[in-house]
Amino acid sequence: MELTRVDDQVHLVTGTNVNWALISDGSALTLVDAGYPNDSAALLASIAAIGHRPEDVVAILLTHAHLDHMGGVPTMTRRFGTPVLTGAEEARHARREYLEQITPARMLRQCTRPAGLRWVAATVRAVVPHLKMSLDEVTAVEPHVPLDVPGGLVAVPTPGHTRGHTAYLMPAAGVLFSGDTLVTGHPLSRLGTGAQRLPSVFNESEAGVTAAVASLRDLPADTLAPGHGELVRAPLATLVDRALNR
Ligand SMILES: [Zn+2]
Repeated sequence: MELTRVDDQVHLVTGTNVNWALISDGSALTLVDAGYPNDSAALLASIAAIGHRPEDVVAILLTHAHLDHMGGVPTMTRRFGTPVLTGAEEARHARREYLEQITPARMLRQCTRPAGLRWVAATVRAVVPHLKMSLDEVTAVEPHVPLDVPGGLVAVPTPGHTRGHTAYLMPAAGVLFSGDTLVTGHPLSRLGTGAQRLPSVFNESEAGVTAAVASLRDLPADTLAPGHGELVRAPLATLVDRALNR
């Protein structure tokens, strides 16, 4: 677990090739995403590392219902009853009314190169035995308005990676939590680091991702806290242009 301080209120945490974020407002916390199922201990450690208790988390905002982002949710909901929120469409995905996720066959195909093999091994370790996880109690958020959660985050619908993918903007801090719409690296990326779209094998709709990235261009943010890769401080328009030109 690696902790990156964004500002007094915001920390980005890296678990197994994936990030989550902690946003504090006094004693209360918002958690954006929750890592893989087997990142749960690291998730709890990250909360302790910034001087908080798990009970301080009053809301979990999910960008999307993939196992690398929702895996730590049951640890929080079962033990602390933490409410889980995401976009209305993604709430259906979290309940597994349908599944949009890389298939085991497509995962296996990654093993033909060393980086892919390493990624598959790390992913299996981070997931097993929780492959069939679903979330029952997920509340749909209203998009484009400040939510009543610490940090006053705003849900930004960004369909593409999944149909209901939702990014979150923290206007007061100028931070965008972009989930898997706009990232700055991934073990399977052939682009290295810097703003980019995820490899297409992960995306439900490539055209959707491209449109969603473009739609972020004018948001008032100069810090990107992505679902994968490092924190980047640069105007969002610059990052969007960079990602769309690769
Ligand atoms: Zn992801």
